[in-house]
Amino acid sequence: MGRDRLDIDRYRVVPGSKVNLAKWDPDDSGGLAKGKEADKLLARDIERMFAAQEKLYAEGRRALLVILQAMDTGGKDGTIKNVFTGVNPTGCRVTSFKAPSEEELAHDFLWRIQKAVPRYGEIGIFNRSHYEDVLVVRVRELVPEPVWRGRYERINRFEKDLVDSGIQVLKFFLHISKDEQKKRLEARLADKNKLWKFNVGDLAERKRWDEYQKAYAEALARCSTEWAPWIVVPADRKWYRNLVVARAIAEKLEAMKPTPRQPSEDLSALVIE
Ligand code: AMP
Ligand code: MG
Repeated sequence: MGRDRLDIDRYRVVPGSKVNLAKWDPDDSGGLAKGKEADKLLARDIERMFAAQEKLYAEGRRALLVILQAMDTGGKDGTIKNVFTGVNPTGCRVTSFKAPSEEELAHDFLWRIQKAVPRYGEIGIFNRSHYEDVLVVRVRELVPEPVWRGRYERINRFEKDLVDSGIQVLKFFLHISKDEQKKRLEARLADKNKLWKFNVGDLAERKRWDEYQKAYAEALARCSTEWAPWIVVPADRKWYRNLVVARAIAEKLEAMKPTPRQPSEDLSALVIE
């Protein structure tokens, strides 16, 4: 595969490093422009995802878990819609995590997460995740500080366990600016077909923008690990966001080198009548 101009390595949060989100440009486009070249890159990475997913499914022994986190309007839904267009739905499972139900609240925060972990052979997509339990839960003070603080370590252990059991983990923070969020909220308000997505409650969260950025920064710093790195995706430009996510997934799937299962017995002499 020849090198092109899309370089995503710089968006990885180096394990153990500090994160200051003000220094990560949400408007970055990696020197690329919207249009034909970008469309071609995306199409090629979607192809790569498709080919590797087929093998992952045919292998049936490992899985990939893709975690998407973002501020409201950050583009989680749009990313799923535009990046997974080529994958076979049979081998794909999307889970959207909402505010926990009464039953979920009566369990440990990882309980509902465990149940949604992909099966071997699948790509699992989390639209929000266990990270909400150190984000909204922190900002909204839904549990005492020592409880959410203890979760960083528990999350790291949980994700290590996933990786050890054959489930690779990729985590994307879709990073938008506060101005871009304003535009997107206004667009939702102005469009009859997008109104269903407008949630008045999101405005209260927007008021706490800085607290959320701080909570995200700490989650990214504490939980970017060798086994499950965080990728900070510049997300003000939707087309570039899609490129970065698709590339990271294609690379990860190919690096896993999935190999279709071979039959345990010799089938070469079989005749179908
Ligand atoms: P949406 O993604 O727009 O459908 O919104 C889902 C809502 O669920 C967001 O406001 C999240 O903050 C909220 N949510 C998700 N997980 C949790 C959690 N563990 N605790 C509290 N709220 C949550
Ligand atoms: Mg929402």
